[in-house]
Amino acid sequence: MKVVSMLKNKNLWLILSVLMTVSLGLFFEATAAEKKMIILLDPAHGGREKGLALTGDVYEKDITLAVALAIQKELATDAKMAVVLTRHKDETMDLEDRREIIEKSKPDFVMSLHVNGGFGKEAAGFEIYYPECGEKATAEKKTDKASKTNAQNKCQSDSLKMAKSVQENMGNLFPRKGRGLRKADLPVTEGMGIPALSVEMSFATNAEDKKKLLDAKTQAEIAKAMATSIKSFGR
Ligand SMILES: [Zn+2]
Repeated sequence: MKVVSMLKNKNLWLILSVLMTVSLGLFFEATAAEKKMIILLDPAHGGREKGLALTGDVYEKDITLAVALAIQKELATDAKMAVVLTRHKDETMDLEDRREIIEKSKPDFVMSLHVNGGFGKEAAGFEIYYPECGEKATAEKKTDKASKTNAQNKCQSDSLKMAKSVQENMGNLFPRKGRGLRKADLPVTEGMGIPALSVEMSFATNAEDKKKLLDAKTQAEIAKAMATSIKSFGR
């Protein structure tokens, strides 16, 4: 049968239009289902709350903001990611302000950025804290015991997965500078059951670390390492 005569056949037209409708429907359904992953970046400190001093006029608050903005830039080209920041500029924000933003934006992951200090001038390197997603995380929610455990488990395993990935990518950037993974609930997400990390990027009190933290190129490299982890987390 010739194509023209095939298309003249009413039944074939009917079948074709049904197929078109079904496939279009599936297409739109798939598009709608592809929800963006919300990443919340929390540059610690800000405004009057300066954090550790690196020089006479550069503080922890400046480094955390610079790196957070650089991570946002790295993720901007990823259509599957939506990035929210607790602050975009040098402003004072207390813990409650930050928690409110986190609660409202319902992120899939929270990443808090800090600069470390103390333990003598020899102490150096990066440190990663991940939450226990403990009892407080689900105590207020009236869900059954099984789902509580599931939510808690997911929060824990997602946090640990990201922690390991950041450890690896930061380790590639700063070989032998990893100080390990530490378990501790983060004040910004405590009680929320949201997977999170707090990254102490380097030491303000170590000369070599400080030099790196102040270097714009190294800040961009730190941001790239973390963005790589965030991107792989969502896949
Ligand atoms: Zn800090």
